[in-house]
Order: sequence, then C-alpha cells, then structure tokens
Amino acid sequence: MFEYDIAIIGLGPAGSTLARLLSPKYRVIAIDKKQEIYEEDGFQKPCGGLISSDAQKALASFDLTLPKDVLVDPQIFAVKTIDLKNRLIRHYQRFYINLDRHKFDLWLRSLIPRRVEVQSGCICTALERKDGGFSVTYVQKGESRTITAKYLVGADGANSIVRRTFYPDKKIRTYLAIQQWFPETHPTPFYSCIFDPKNTDCCSWSISKDRQFVFGGAYPLDHAGQRLERQKKKLEQIGFRFGKPMKTEACLVLRPSSFRDFCHGENGIFFIGEAAGFISPSSLEGISSAIYSARDLSRVLNRGKGDLNQAYWKKTRHIRLKLFLKVLKCPFMYQSFLRKLVMKSGICSIGITAAEGENSTPDFRKE
Ligand SMILES: Cc1cc2nc3c(=O)[nH]c(=O)nc-3n(C[C@H](O)[C@H](O)[C@H](O)COP(=O)(O)OP(=O)(O)OC[C@H]3O[C@@H](n4cnc5c(N)ncnc54)[C@H](O)[C@@H]3O)c2cc1C
Repeated sequence: MFEYDIAIIGLGPAGSTLARLLSPKYRVIAIDKKQEIYEEDGFQKPCGGLISSDAQKALASFDLTLPKDVLVDPQIFAVKTIDLKNRLIRHYQRFYINLDRHKFDLWLRSLIPRRVEVQSGCICTALERKDGGFSVTYVQKGESRTITAKYLVGADGANSIVRRTFYPDKKIRTYLAIQQWFPETHPTPFYSCIFDPKNTDCCSWSISKDRQFVFGGAYPLDHAGQRLERQKKKLEQIGFRFGKPMKTEACLVLRPSSFRDFCHGENGIFFIGEAAGFISPSSLEGISSAIYSARDLSRVLNRGKGDLNQAYWKKTRHIRLKLFLKVLKCPFMYQSFLRKLVMKSGICSIGITAAEGENSTPDFRKE
C-alpha cells in the first residue's frame, strides 16, 4: 500500500545512524539536502566539529573507528574559558576530537547500507498525513517527486520541516548560531568558550582548524549579526585576531530549557537528534544525543511490536535525564555571580605554563 515503510528526513548524525541500523525487513527512503560528494558550495551544516567524550562513547558503542581524513589539525586538550563580564580566564581540560564536520557527516552517510534508498541534494518541501501513513514531497534539481511511507522520521535538525508541519505550536528556545572563518594568525592555536551576557545569554566559541580560525556564537534572534560584531570588538581588545572573514555561515540552534521542550512525535511520526530538541543547553553539544536517539529508535522499530511511539518515548528517558541535568548545570555557567565563584575558585581548572618570552594567546593583560 505504501511505497516505503519508513521515510527519514535529514541525514545528519541522527538520520545516518538510524538509516544504518534499520532492519533489512524495512523499505527505507532517506532524503537530505547535502550533496552526495564533498562540494565547497553545497549545503554544509555549520558546526564546531568537536566530538565530545559522550559522542566518542556513542561511536565506540558501535565499534566504529574514525578515519584519519575526517580529522583536522591541531588536536587541543584545553578550553580557554573567558568571562568578559567578570574579566576572568581559566583553562579547563577537555577531551574533544577536532574534525571536519562536513566530512564526518559524509563518512556517517557512507556507512548506510545500499538497501536504503538515499536521495541526496534533495529538499523536502511538503508533508501530509495520508491513508494512515504520510506523503512526502521533495525537490531535486527543480523536479518534484512525491512518495508515500507508513512511518515518518524527522531527523532534520533545529529548523525541522517535520516538526513545523505537524507541531506548529511546539516552540523550543531558539538562537541564531553564526560562525565566521578567518585565516589563523594567533601565535598558538586554541579553543575558547566565551561568556558575554551583554550580547548573548548563551555562549560563543572559537576553534582552530587546519590553519583557519573559526569564531562563532549563539545569539538571540534580534540583531544577531550586530551582537557578533560587538563581541568581536571586545575580544580584539584582549588579543583575538579576526581580520576579514573568508566565510560566514548561520543556522538556528535549539536550547531546551525544560522536559516539555522535547518532542518525540506520535501516531507514526518520530523525531530524533536536534529535531526532537536533543541538544545540551549548557554547551550546545548535540552529536552524542543525535546518535543515541537514532540507536534507540532503530531498536524500537526493528522490534516492531506494541505502541512504537510509546516505546520510543520510554527508551529515550536516559537522554532526557542527561539533558535535564545539563539544564541544572546552566546557572553555574550562565549566571554571572555563580560563574565568577566557580572560576575564581579555580576548581577543576589547569594552570598554563608558557615558555619565557613566548607570546601566548588572548589575555585581559593585553587590553
Ligand atoms: C554553530 C554550531 C556549532 C555546533 N558545534 C557542535 C560541536 O562542536 N559538537 C557537537 O557535538 N555539537 C555541536 N553542535 C550541535 C550539533 O551540530 C547538532 O546538535 C547535531 O548536528 C544534530 O544532529 P542531527 O542529525 O539531529 O541534525 P543535523 O546535523 O542538523 O542534520 C539535519 C540534516 O537534515 C537535513 N535537512 C534539514 N532540512 C531538510 C529538508 N527540508 N530537506 C532535506 N534535508 C533537510 C540537513 O541537510 C542536515 O543534514 C553545534 C551546533 C551549531 C549550530
């Protein structure tokens, strides 16, 4: 009756993981707007491309190993945390893997078995409930095609068309993430995490990648570009070097603030990854939850018994709990007074010893 059993919209870490794990008993179509091969001009998800310990564990749980060509130079072991309001800097050890996010996405997609019909370079434009299932319309090179499927999976990220279509009233706290790429001119490459409540109640960051310096932040939607520029000016005063951006990219990013914000779907619709609101409100780390929610949904669908939506909701309890703990952590990072106490105490921070005469990275003494 339906052309496919499952239609997956979006092949980021969530969609690609699900497509890889679904049982051969299903006819699956997966639609994504990224091109099939690496193209500078095609759509690329703006991202810091840092794989956290949680995401590494998620990959390890599938016995997956990362190919070298998705990694970038250098690998850094500390984050410079900069509090512009309290004028404090501390370094904290982190175990990130620094990679090329677009290559990472293409690698995850390359692991999808051939039995899944992958439609790349396609934009899903319309969705409808039809005959107990769904009709999905997508456009490829100006040509429109409509297919039908029994189940629909929204793996299409923060600005999910699946969520907008079927849950138009579901509003999750949303920011505009902007990233700019510059030639790297700092004497020593570094990661930073910046708190600047005058310009955003979320955070900003910088990352060095293959001799490029990436600066970005998540800003309230009003005047986001101006907020970024004001922030850059402040950071220049303490030694950040920007210059003319080679590339500016932007996208929405979600930041859940309560249990109610998560959206699992019902009656044959499922959400995984950021489309479900599964992203850390403290650090905006989302790759681990994207992978875990996809794994959970694959287990539920592959078993195929009982109320599948209810079973998926139950299975993802661990993700909601983890993210809720991050909500509780937020005041210690985002409330100026508590952050000052934590940073001043020096707890968990590491001291940096630079060689004498070495021109180190940004510092308030440079003002
Ligand atoms: C600027 C920024 C920096 C970040 N840095 C990090 C980081 O360093 N580490 C980390 O762990 N997390 C980071 N995150 C969060 C992380 O990127 C997301 O949480 C994660 O990518 C979610 O994965 P996903 O598969 O759910 O969605 P996405 O990765 O957003 O994938 C969604 C996919 O859906 C496709 N799509 C969307 N709409 C359509 C449509 N209409 N038709 C067809 N295809 C569609 C897109 O092509 C995309 O491939 C960052 C987020 C932002 C915005």
